[in-house]
Amino acid sequence: MKFILTKELGRLCKWLRIMGFDASYFPEAEKRELIIKSLQGERVILTRDSKMAVYSGIRMLHIKSDFVKEQVRQVVAELNIKPDRNKFFTICVICNTPLKKVKKSDIKDKVPPYVYQTQDSFMRCDVCERIYWQGTHWTNVGEFFDKLKIN
Ligand SMILES: [Zn+2]
Repeated sequence: MKFILTKELGRLCKWLRIMGFDASYFPEAEKRELIIKSLQGERVILTRDSKMAVYSGIRMLHIKSDFVKEQVRQVVAELNIKPDRNKFFTICVICNTPLKKVKKSDIKDKVPPYVYQTQDSFMRCDVCERIYWQGTHWTNVGEFFDKLKIN
């Protein structure tokens, strides 16, 4: 399942990407553009905007809460998603590009020395060149989902 989110849902978008979902986010786009993009990409629109018009053929979920944990919970429950921890951190949180495994030796100069010494598995985004590893943010993500009790 792929998503497109309206501008007020930037944090939810980040969490969907952390879970490994393809989630588009165009904070500058007009609603009409988002609808066209959702149809072209077969994406479910997630929005806080209860006035967003519903057209036939569009899948849309109106997000009820302002709190990101509740938002994640609602998406998972109402769209019947099964978060798979094996897919976590497979998509760039910044730019929604699938990450690629990189050799440790290739990123030696690009991560802090402590990280280089203590981590063995690294992923890189080819578009924005951000590097990911299973460090503290991974633990935080685990706690986030433990608290949600959705996985
Ligand atoms: Zn990226």
